[in-house]
Amino acid sequence: MSNDEFPTDQPAVVTCGLPYANGDLHIGHLRGYIGADAFSRALETLGQETAYVCGSDMHGTPVAVNAEQQGVDPEDFALEWHEQYEETFPQFNVEFDNYGHTHDETNTELTQDIVRKLDDEGYIYEKEIQVAYDPDADQYLPDRYVEGTCPYCGEKARGDECDEGCQRHLEPGEVEDPTSTITGNPAEYRERTHKFFEVSEFTDFLTEFLDGLEGTSNARNQPRQWIEDGLQDWCITRDMDWGIDYPTAEGEDSVAPEEQRDGGGEAADESELVLYVWVDAPIEYVASTKQYSERVGVDEYDWERVWKEDGEIVHIIGRDIIQHHTIFWPAMLEGVGYNKPRGIAATGFITINGKGLSTSRNRAIWAKEYLDEGFHPDLLRYYLTTTGGLQQDVDFSWDAFQEKVNGELVGTVGNFWYRSLLFAYRNYEGTPDADVSEEVRERIEGAIGDARESVNDYDLRGIGGAATELAQFGNEYIQRNEPWKLTDEEPERAAQVIRDCVQIAKAVGVLLEPIAPDKAQALWEQLGEDGAVADAHLEDALEAPPRNFDEPGELFAKIEDDRVEELNEKLEERVAAAGDDGDDDGDDEETESDDTDGDEAGDMADTDDLEALADERIGFEDFQDLDIRVGRIESAEGIEGADDLARLEVDIGFETRQVVAGIKQLHDLAELPGEKCILLANMEKAELFGVESNGMILAAGEEADLLTTHGDAEVGEKVR
Ligand SMILES: [Zn+2]
Repeated sequence: MSNDEFPTDQPAVVTCGLPYANGDLHIGHLRGYIGADAFSRALETLGQETAYVCGSDMHGTPVAVNAEQQGVDPEDFALEWHEQYEETFPQFNVEFDNYGHTHDETNTELTQDIVRKLDDEGYIYEKEIQVAYDPDADQYLPDRYVEGTCPYCGEKARGDECDEGCQRHLEPGEVEDPTSTITGNPAEYRERTHKFFEVSEFTDFLTEFLDGLEGTSNARNQPRQWIEDGLQDWCITRDMDWGIDYPTAEGEDSVAPEEQRDGGGEAADESELVLYVWVDAPIEYVASTKQYSERVGVDEYDWERVWKEDGEIVHIIGRDIIQHHTIFWPAMLEGVGYNKPRGIAATGFITINGKGLSTSRNRAIWAKEYLDEGFHPDLLRYYLTTTGGLQQDVDFSWDAFQEKVNGELVGTVGNFWYRSLLFAYRNYEGTPDADVSEEVRERIEGAIGDARESVNDYDLRGIGGAATELAQFGNEYIQRNEPWKLTDEEPERAAQVIRDCVQIAKAVGVLLEPIAPDKAQALWEQLGEDGAVADAHLEDALEAPPRNFDEPGELFAKIEDDRVEELNEKLEERVAAAGDDGDDDGDDEETESDDTDGDEAGDMADTDDLEALADERIGFEDFQDLDIRVGRIESAEGIEGADDLARLEVDIGFETRQVVAGIKQLHDLAELPGEKCILLANMEKAELFGVESNGMILAAGEEADLLTTHGDAEVGEKVR
């Protein structure tokens, strides 16, 4: 990898988190695949040689458990989902250069090679650990086969992950009060010998790696905290059949018998162990790149150069798998002497109508459902990439979708494209004979610069924004110059204005291609351009379109209100139906907001008593200047001599702040320690009654109702 700006001379590979072959795809998944697809396309518009690869994640206990429940072979079970994903992605214009799966031969061989190499290098050792065991089922209980309590946060934890609580990766034996998910009986812990990867050896390497890592800030900051807490070695084997076998030493068919009886304890019987799913899953990134190379030829794209030498590796992932990608994965790559990722961008979650996406409650927009409703994939691509920053949570509602489509795509982009091309066609049968004006050339160059900068900042919203803002400028330009008044009296001037508009229209198409590839291609064809807009580079936005083109059609259509009403009703009914089944077992993909309150209307204040809303709007930048954090109150005591003031100690992750708050009369201070709160961290320091206040606690209303979070936001996390 280089530290140069994109485009570089080295080939790039873009990957996204592997879809787990266990269920239908929904909008939460699509955000990642569409985002990575758009980013990979955007790199190509800069002239960066790029491959976009992925594959299905076939192994692990959820697949094994579900296959068992259905009485089918796990391989068949996972393959069926794999094939469905392979079909679905192109329907959203997500076009992988290669899409493999973790159970195929390429990944199996490569995984075993890499593990063997780590072993040769001395990074793997054996250790006796406590493994949950179900005596009735006569079976060890890896990962999802066991449930219990998280030792870190006390929440209910499942197997290898505290997915409802602190989100930590859990090692085998860590779950407290283990219960077997096979029989529901309490599990016992038994001693077993397993293989460990010495992640702790890579502490210095990882610290330096994170300092140089590009992408989103959450992918750098969270792992820094984990490193500070001390890295634990990582158990990389499991007692189960489904997965990639732990490799025997090269040239040996099986484990030597004396190794099995080594020492006092029971040595690891390698023939019974499979690799933990998180070992072979990221290796699929490499395997899929290798398959691509083998298909197009290494002269065209050389996977070994990318992964073993100097390629630009970019991972786009969900923020729930940051630890796997910024700690375990780079340590493995370093251990075998491979190249390391240049950028890791971790996306936020998707909420639906302001509430957590929940597959068990059917509060989700399914991929198939979206397509069945007849909406063009580019509309969803545009919504998901431009509604929030990459690491922000994005809310989806049909109302917001309608507003975005009708406002930006229909009203701004589509409207500009259609009126410009129609005017040009009717008066000039295409592009008028004139040169692009200096003003318009500079404006297009500016948009190209913005797009280039956005790619280098891993900012998809900025890429889409460069296109939409240019179309906005186009609309203003045409309005300001009123070419329809000029055609008779000032024909040269009219030709000039329309020539400019046609050029802007083409530039908007080139800029929008990563986000809305189909619509950009349709415009390309309306302009009479040959070939594919996907092959165009940003600079082509300044090349003149062909002299003649046909009558254009409108490329975007408004979404009507009754359509949205109908979609909202469908969603509501569906969620209500799922709720009736009482399926509230927490089998949710994403964090859920607490909506048990129910009586929303009852909490509404009489608006006559409320402070009027501010008329003046602020920009998003102004909001971003506020550093608002989740905190936990550690202590609270009244300040002597002050009737209303209390002195609080608030933990905000990085440090503990002393703040003064006017809540002495309004709260029982003894109740506050342990409560989460929201703190404005970059408030100017102040001194009140001789006590320094370093931050401001946020509260609502006359009673100083303290703001808090209702989900799993951790102390120190930023409010955005
Ligand atoms: Zn936890």
